[in-house]
Amino acid sequence: MNKKIYINQNIERLFSLILSLTLILTLNIILTNTLFKNITQSANLRLIHACTEFVEDYSEAVEGKLNEIESTLDLLYAKIAYKNYTKKEIMSFLLSEKENTSIPFSFLAFSDENGIILTPDGTFHDISDRYYFKKIMSGSTKFCVSSVLDSMDDGTPSLVFARAIRDENNKIAGLLCAACTTSVFETFINEIKIGNNRKVSIRDINGKFIKHYNSRWTGWVFHSGIQNPKDFPETEEDDNVMEATDTEGRPVYVFYRELDLAMWTVAVTVPIAEFDAVKIAQHKYQNFIIELIVVVLSLLFLIEIWAHSFMERHQILSTHIDSLTHLWVRSYFEKEANKILKRYPNSKFLLIETDIRGFKFINQNYGENQANRLLLFFSKLLYEDTRVYDGILCRGYADHFFILVKVSSVHKGMQVFKANLKKIMALAKKAEVPFIPKFGLSFYLPKMKDEIHGVQILISRASFAKSTIKENALQQFAIYDDSLLQKSKNENFIETHMEAALANKEFFVMYQPKIDLETEKVVGAEALVRWQSPKLGYMPPNSFVPLFERNNFIVKLDFYVYDQVFKFIRSCMDNNEPTVPISVNVSRNHDKPEKFVHSFMALLKKYDIPPTLIEVELLERATLDKNLLREITIMLQKEGFKVAMDDFGSGESSLNMLSTIPVNILKFDRSFLFASDSAHGKLDATSETFIRTLVDLGKNLKKETIFEGVETAEQRDFLRKIKCDQVQGYFYSKPLREDEFMTFLKSHQ
Ligand code: C2E
Ligand code: MG
Ligand code: MG
Repeated sequence: MNKKIYINQNIERLFSLILSLTLILTLNIILTNTLFKNITQSANLRLIHACTEFVEDYSEAVEGKLNEIESTLDLLYAKIAYKNYTKKEIMSFLLSEKENTSIPFSFLAFSDENGIILTPDGTFHDISDRYYFKKIMSGSTKFCVSSVLDSMDDGTPSLVFARAIRDENNKIAGLLCAACTTSVFETFINEIKIGNNRKVSIRDINGKFIKHYNSRWTGWVFHSGIQNPKDFPETEEDDNVMEATDTEGRPVYVFYRELDLAMWTVAVTVPIAEFDAVKIAQHKYQNFIIELIVVVLSLLFLIEIWAHSFMERHQILSTHIDSLTHLWVRSYFEKEANKILKRYPNSKFLLIETDIRGFKFINQNYGENQANRLLLFFSKLLYEDTRVYDGILCRGYADHFFILVKVSSVHKGMQVFKANLKKIMALAKKAEVPFIPKFGLSFYLPKMKDEIHGVQILISRASFAKSTIKENALQQFAIYDDSLLQKSKNENFIETHMEAALANKEFFVMYQPKIDLETEKVVGAEALVRWQSPKLGYMPPNSFVPLFERNNFIVKLDFYVYDQVFKFIRSCMDNNEPTVPISVNVSRNHDKPEKFVHSFMALLKKYDIPPTLIEVELLERATLDKNLLREITIMLQKEGFKVAMDDFGSGESSLNMLSTIPVNILKFDRSFLFASDSAHGKLDATSETFIRTLVDLGKNLKKETIFEGVETAEQRDFLRKIKCDQVQGYFYSKPLREDEFMTFLKSHQ
């Protein structure tokens, strides 16, 4: 049952944890998204910079080659100009120089101012319509490069580089032309590696490829779908970049630069996928970070749950758990029990309250440590049994324990209880300090739904049932029922009226004579209290003494009785009436011998009574208060009183006490006389043997012997025969009022 409560609490906590986890994750995703957007963007920018630098590098390399070609032509021109060659001589000079240049020119030729070029094979060509011819002749530039030509014999794409030739008047007199294949540019550019995906191309003024990464495109114009770049990361530089598709139809970014010298365009083509790859890599990284955060957060939450439950357990330990037995404390038990009763209103439950007889005396006699060990031992016994039936258990206070178990029926509940009781009793007997527990039981049945609103009522009923178990009886448990309730109501009434009753002198004393069996004379009397209540009527002590023992009112009442008795003796003495020793009962509630004897003596002095006229009857109700009894006996004897052990042989009194408590008189319990085998109350043989042995024992120990409860002549005769000293019983007289007793005394002197 307890587990379910914990599970509910954990589900609530888990729910709130999932909620907070979701919130934190959402926040985290928003934040990392922004962060990674920036990171991705800057990564893309770095890529752009790299690509732009590649273009710059290539451009510089191509420009360098062009400059080299221009310088070669400049040198040739210088030689021609210096020698002042004729056209023919120029031609043959050029033919001779072809092999001397660092550039692998396919030919060197001269064109006159009309565009007629004399080729090495001696033929004339007209180049006057060529772009480079016109450009140079216009005087706007000294050096010019043709568009890609496929005019080579084998169809290899080639280029013509032209340089102006001026005459002595500095007038353009023609062109120095040098041709070479486009491979001149391809070979050295190919030597520069820039990665697999980034491709370089060079186009001429007409868009024809001087170099293309796919060599079959060299010399051709490739009409790729060039568009304005869209979704392209913003750069700080001039956007020399466009979006296009490459020869394989893949989307690419083209980074380009125009070369002033040859009006060429150098371009680096980068697949757009490469930019996406950055994004994908960043996303992977971002996902990894999110996963890591989820794992870390989950771990933190697990730690939090663990820490929380640890703290809770610790808190439970400090506030809900009894430090000695490690069982629940009463308040927590009540809380949990109420939850259970609420949850199962149609089930049956048994509530048990148990405590240890005379625990107070165990504490006093054996010390706190041993008493605690006993409590621990008892709590373990109870725990083992409760656990099996899935019940709950607590230490209410001191030696009181409460148990709540679900039962299928009252009958079944009682069966199980009795089986366990037997087991517990057997184990309790064998404990380090043997003890006797007693149990109060109350049942919750569905029909009681309206009258029982909480476990507190069940506890008070069980408590009450337990309180009805007499201290000196062998009864082990009591079950609450409605007649007990009536009794409880009466007791409540008694408790609310007892103080007033004492003040109003509603209590009075009766005297039951004690007869000497040898002389048949009255040799004493026992003072027995009665209550004549105007509201409740006449009451014998059995209907209020046990209650007063529980609420300690007996301490007051006892002294009231002593006062009445002493007053009676005083008046007898004052009136010269005969007197006999009167015995008074001392309840076990007088647990401080010195205090008791002191008050007792003060009262005795007040009435100036000799101690020889008073006897004291003590009860040995449990073996546990032996020391106390011994102490009080010795103290009273010192003051000159005779002390009797009352109800000897009943209930829990033991023969053992004979050697430890030095009483003067053994007052045998009347229950020995119950076993009679005739209507006249003749005792059966076994009882006779037993009683004889007891009386002999008393005699041997030099104790006076008195039997109470003698009702028949047979009993009296038997006791006389075995030399019992005195008897007290209805056979001679019931308890009598003062005047009746005086009459009886006078007639039995
Ligand atoms: P107890 O001290 O053992 O008293 C003897 C009881 O046996 C008395 O009952 C008495 O009336 C009864 N009794 C005597 N002879 C016979 C008999 O032949 N037959 C029967 N059936 N009963 C007989 P009582 O007066 O009802 O007292 C019961 C108990 O109440 C006493 O037992 C004693 O323990 C307690 N008690 C009585 N008065 C006082 C008192 O003033 N103070 C204290 N502390 N306890 C008292
Ligand atoms: Mg007595
Ligand atoms: Mg007695």
